[in-house]
Amino acid sequence: MTISHGIDLTGQCAIVTGASTGIGEAAAIELARAGADIVVNHRDSHDDAADTVAKVEALGRRAVAIQADISKEEDVLRLFAESEAKLGPIDIVFSNAGRQKDAKIGDMTLDDWNAVIGVNLTGAFLIGREAIKHFRKKGLREDVSRARGKLIFNSSVHQIIAWAFHVNYAASKGGIHMLMQSLAQEVSVEKIRVNSVAPGAIATAINAEERAHNLEGMMRLIPYGRVGDPEDVGRAVAWLASDASDYVVGQTIFVDGAMTLYPEFRGNG
Ligand code: NAD
Repeated sequence: MTISHGIDLTGQCAIVTGASTGIGEAAAIELARAGADIVVNHRDSHDDAADTVAKVEALGRRAVAIQADISKEEDVLRLFAESEAKLGPIDIVFSNAGRQKDAKIGDMTLDDWNAVIGVNLTGAFLIGREAIKHFRKKGLREDVSRARGKLIFNSSVHQIIAWAFHVNYAASKGGIHMLMQSLAQEVSVEKIRVNSVAPGAIATAINAEERAHNLEGMMRLIPYGRVGDPEDVGRAVAWLASDASDYVVGQTIFVDGAMTLYPEFRGNG
């Protein structure tokens, strides 16, 4: 039995979307450290995905890399079918893949809008729907978990903090919030738990440019005084996937160094 942070996922399988880099990679490793076998989904980064697979295998868990563009329905159906064929029934799904395509509103094209909504929100819907269908088919396996399945979305602090010049991204994350809560309301009676993590500023490729050019500005928004590491989010995902959080349903865990406490209001605003 493998124990990590008091979290035990032995005998369970997890799909992590966008797991070749950043938070997805860290979550795949933390889930594996806790005992789960891992499907490493990636869109087109074969080498990075192979690297995540190797890291999971080094922890003694099984892992497979499966290419799929999660904004495409046929790819998502294939992702679940291949995952089950290769690793068995799926108990945990971390819908993590996401992207940004920033522009001022006057310059934002319909393509910019659709590209971000297509991956972040439509992709989350497709992954969430298939996860729930597969959890239902699998049934309850009380020997490994009290829940029939655990679905976790990667949202953002921007599900509640407005973000000028990033309206496509903020709208997608606001949408994930209601997608997550509405799904939780619909399926919790079936012992399927749906929750989100909402990261603040985490050091990954998605914000590498901002960290390089505006670290001071970012730090003013983070009372806890550091940019987060992908593992900070990965550990929260592993906890939400485990029976340690069995009574947590329809909630968002903010992993943000207190960014959502509106630090500008320190000293009377
Ligand atoms: P990242 O760029 O390293 O990871 C995003 C991953 O998603 C990449 O591996 C990318 O290949 C994958 N991806 C993109 N489109 C895809 C598609 N169509 N199909 C399959 N995979 C696809 O950056 P990250 O920070 O690790 O981002 C992961 C998630 O975390 C995103 O949803 C992002 O919005 C969210 N997030 C990140 C931060 C942060 O500060 N880094 C903060 C809040 C939320």
